[in-house]
Amino acid sequence: MNGNTNTTTNNVEKPSNTNVVNKIESTYVGSDKSNKYHYPDCRWAKKIKPENLLEFNGKSDAEGKGYVPCGTCNP
Ligand SMILES: [Zn+2]
Repeated sequence: MNGNTNTTTNNVEKPSNTNVVNKIESTYVGSDKSNKYHYPDCRWAKKIKPENLLEFNGKSDAEGKGYVPCGTCNP
């Protein structure tokens, strides 16, 4: 007795999420106008104007240039 084999192969494929944030762990950002460095996703980092934005390759790079960790994102 073969029952009704419901072979509904209707795989609804969701569109791939194009909003992928590339997180680079060891990169920090800072502003030319301050001496704080941040995680790139810090709310203060996002306020830095592009023309003032600096990138650091790790804490030693940031601190070597006289930058101190931000108190909000605590890098
Ligand atoms: Zn911060």
